[in-house]
Amino acid sequence: MYPHIQMINSDTHLPTHVDVAIIGGGIIGVCTAYFLAARGVSAVVLEKGRLAAEQSSRNWGWCRTLGRDLAEIPLAMASLKIWDDWQTTLGEDTGFQRSGILYVCESARQQAEQAHWLRAASAQGVVARELDPVQLRQLLPQAARHHWLGALHA
Ligand SMILES: Cc1cc2nc3c(=O)[nH]c(=O)nc-3n(C[C@H](O)[C@H](O)[C@H](O)COP(=O)(O)OP(=O)(O)OC[C@H]3O[C@@H](n4cnc5c(N)ncnc54)[C@H](O)[C@@H]3O)c2cc1C
Repeated sequence: MYPHIQMINSDTHLPTHVDVAIIGGGIIGVCTAYFLAARGVSAVVLEKGRLAAEQSSRNWGWCRTLGRDLAEIPLAMASLKIWDDWQTTLGEDTGFQRSGILYVCESARQQAEQAHWLRAASAQGVVARELDPVQLRQLLPQAARHHWLGALHA
């Protein structure tokens, strides 16, 4: 279930002066404006069409650490924390929920790569675990139709 999305109408008057002008009102532009404003920096978002009506309105909604390049992990973890907090901060239903994510293994090589990734990611604070085929089927009964060797689950 997705929350109802309210269309935001643009202001009809532009401010005469701002500290930062942001081109584009997708999630990046809007969040940049939000966090600047929270620090007392004035900003204007200049959007050519409708706010959040391009790719920010149609992505799959995944916020994941799993499978990420190790260099991206701190950013992905910070992002998850922000998403967890939005509901309270904004007092609005963002639709965000943690429902888990699975990366299945189809080969012993993939399994070894996942185990290697998990060791390095765990050292950075990622909470994930390896599932054997039995544990995988408990979580995902449809896995019985495949010959997966296991999975990584966060
Ligand atoms: C199908 C799909 C699935 C995805 N799934 C995921 C996912 O599961 N998880 C994830 O993290 N990411 C996902 N993404 C990526 C994610 O949606 C984007 O990284 C993110 O939305 C980019 O935000 P943005 O604000 O940079 O760009 P956009 O949302 O594209 O916003 C850019 C805005 O700039 C405006 N603009 C452009 N040029 C100008 C101009 N000259 N003047 C004024 N305005 C201008 C545009 O109209 C637009 O509104 C997915 C993307 C797609 C397409």
